[in-house]
Amino acid sequence: MKSYRKELWFSTKQRRELINITPDVEEAVAQSGVKEGMVLVNAMHITASVFINDDESGLHQDFEKWLEGLAPEKPYSQYNHNTAEDNADAHLKRTIMGREVVVAITEGKLDFGPWEQIFYGEFDGKRKKRVLVKVIGE
Ligand code: ZN
Repeated sequence: MKSYRKELWFSTKQRRELINITPDVEEAVAQSGVKEGMVLVNAMHITASVFINDDESGLHQDFEKWLEGLAPEKPYSQYNHNTAEDNADAHLKRTIMGREVVVAITEGKLDFGPWEQIFYGEFDGKRKKRVLVKVIGE
């Protein structure tokens, strides 16, 4: 069995951003040489997510509105976590959007359903953060 590990680094300009990382994951799978196997992609921070959904801008605006409705960033004082930090909302958003995805690799390609794309969801950005890509198989 082969295994391959890669880190993807991000430093977003805004506090919250959704980034399509499908090409980066495809590149890691190609570099791994794995033709049949699995790839795990996970955020390595507790204020960011990796999830699969549609790359459609209206939907991305809907995610922002929905998450702000559930866990508004402000006022910071509404959260017990925000004593030394101001990112309680980001922890909550990350929890609902998920930590990781696993995608099957078939004949060297990501074996997606229709319209599936992999996203990095940043909820407390403007600093260096990373995603782990781990490929296993043969
Ligand atoms: Zn925090």
